[in-house]
Amino acid sequence: MDRRNFFKIVSTVSAGVATNACGKKEDVLIPLLVPAHEMAPGEEHWHPAICTECGAGCGTIARVMQGERVVERNGKKFREHIASIKKLEGNPLDPVSGGRLCARGQAALQSLYNPDRVASPMRRTSERGQAGFASASWDEAIATVADKLKAASGDVSKILFLTTSPNGSRSATIQHFLESIGAQPAITCPLADFALEKKAAASAFGWNGLPRYDLANARYALGVGADFLGGWTSPVYYGRQFGDFRRGRLGIRGKLVQAESRMSITAGSADEWLPLRPGSEPQFLIALTRVLLDEKLARNAEQLPGNIRDSFLAANLAGLIATTGIAEKRLRRIARELGESEAPLVIAGASVVHTNSLDALVAAHYLNLMLGNIGKPGGVFPPFSSPGTDQKNANVPETIKQAQVLLLDGANPIYTFPPTSGVAESMAHLGLVASFGMFIDDSVAYADAILPTHHPLESEMAVVPAVPVAPISINVAVPFVQPLYDTRPLGQILDAIARKMNVTFQAVSAANFVQPMLPPNQTWDEVTRQGGIWQGDNTTRPVPKPSGEKFEWHNPTFSGAPEQFPFLFQPYLSLQYHDGSGANLPWMQELPDPVSSSMWDLPVEIDPHTAARLNVMTGDWVRVESSHGSLEATAYVHPAALPGVISMAIGEGHTHYGRYASKRGANPLSILSPVWEDSVGALAFGATRVRIARLDRPPGLIQFSPNDREQGPWGYR
Ligand code: SF4
Repeated sequence: MDRRNFFKIVSTVSAGVATNACGKKEDVLIPLLVPAHEMAPGEEHWHPAICTECGAGCGTIARVMQGERVVERNGKKFREHIASIKKLEGNPLDPVSGGRLCARGQAALQSLYNPDRVASPMRRTSERGQAGFASASWDEAIATVADKLKAASGDVSKILFLTTSPNGSRSATIQHFLESIGAQPAITCPLADFALEKKAAASAFGWNGLPRYDLANARYALGVGADFLGGWTSPVYYGRQFGDFRRGRLGIRGKLVQAESRMSITAGSADEWLPLRPGSEPQFLIALTRVLLDEKLARNAEQLPGNIRDSFLAANLAGLIATTGIAEKRLRRIARELGESEAPLVIAGASVVHTNSLDALVAAHYLNLMLGNIGKPGGVFPPFSSPGTDQKNANVPETIKQAQVLLLDGANPIYTFPPTSGVAESMAHLGLVASFGMFIDDSVAYADAILPTHHPLESEMAVVPAVPVAPISINVAVPFVQPLYDTRPLGQILDAIARKMNVTFQAVSAANFVQPMLPPNQTWDEVTRQGGIWQGDNTTRPVPKPSGEKFEWHNPTFSGAPEQFPFLFQPYLSLQYHDGSGANLPWMQELPDPVSSSMWDLPVEIDPHTAARLNVMTGDWVRVESSHGSLEATAYVHPAALPGVISMAIGEGHTHYGRYASKRGANPLSILSPVWEDSVGALAFGATRVRIARLDRPPGLIQFSPNDREQGPWGYR
């Protein structure tokens, strides 16, 4: 969908809604609910919406047509016309999505029409964790939550709200509610909220939020540990940027070098892949800075604070290089190419979190500063200050232990933390667990009450993208289809709870959220019609003064004795399922995994030499065991896997998550040791050692394309 077509189709809608049923022209555009009876069969309407399948917050547009559903009244079944969404596309006006969507964004339709959605309030009828529920009235569910909140409201640590809501009107509503009842701010489950990337930006430059990398205008990009075309901060935005980096400029083709400990989608798309040893990203980056300083290729070295420069110069270069597993000659060549490029850029991330990931991210900021690209085209841009509040990060299992009431809003701690973290035991003993989610997942199975909210495609909301591209950047959606079930907006539910508690509370509507940012030349109607507000110049920004905080780097720590557990285990966010939340979408189950082409399951990736030693072929069953648990999965012998490293995508292995995802495959997070990254309390999910053994069982991997294009002797019997 391009910009021109957007205006064509949205003006069609406008004509439709600006003419009322009597054929009389209305004065204002009303991009609101389209009554099903006003839709003619075959006629389409397009409406702006927002994708919330991950935190990137892409602006979308939805194609609405007349549809049908079967309803039951007084024991009889009737067919009823409804306005139904047939297709989602990217909103071409939104500078993040630019008219594009990723696979999960396309599949958001299957979340709206998922047969396993919670259709009405529910109360628990079984043991916690068993997911036995019966229908309840709204009054009953609201009273249950209000009573327990009232009892716990004297102590701020006793009420815990875990959310995955991105910054926007929903998170602001949650924040107001928690302030009204005297509870601590909401906390995010930090598997995919990129808390470390934000922390590093704050440590190096005092920035608040995720920096934006202007890949499209770079000439030479070095990615370090950031799978920015896969499951990193804003996959659609960086996918588009990558397209422009390669082919968007006449006669210029950017070169991408990717340094990562597995061949991710980004590494597979790069001109050159540097297979780093897991956890050696800080050493690799500091070795580069040292070579740049030694060879006087750092064009902006004088901007480095003296203490930081001294610590780089004092580093033992030979020791650093030996840690990375990359040959010295190659590393020096990369440093030279970076230093000599017209527009060099380093994009560092923690796609796999290690105990020392923060060191790598901070070092990368100093490296970019030395390369002179901060705030310049082709460089790193500081985050814009956003309205609303970002949720806090914390060690979630510890915080749950202190709580008495747990409110869940999309977060799934039972799935995203290993059993050794004690989350299940803590949740079994809480005074109340309540969920505002749309599905029964591993954690909602512990809930005493479910108060289901509308689907995002049925809701009014304003969302600030994870990586805003303009100083004022808010995507906006207002309802355009009727809610399918007996669900409610979150603000309305929290308002009812607050009333029951005799507490004053005001929900934040999308209009309230946007109003302070609305420029004089724009109206709310225009904002809703185009799906957001994106204004301001983003081309150059002043170079920040580095904080000069003392900087030290560390070696990663791994749990498990190497003699017993000789392999490093790397779970990673998958393209299809992200942090596991996409596993209940059948299109995503059906989508071939980009690495192994497996469908409806995710295998363990093993290198050919280890596989040969263990007599493992692709499709064989293996047991992967750590000092804290074991899982059984099929194997994929990956020609590019690092010897000594076992990788597995996150997504399958849910105990409860609807008909498509429950009890399917294995969850790699379930065997991790409870090792934490100290600065933000994130689970260091790359810090566990494992062993692996072949199981005597018939092969069981379903692959879309069983013959790899570069098939070697390792793959098949
Ligand atoms: S990156 Fe994909 S899943 Fe995430 S918001 Fe954008 S379209 Fe949705």
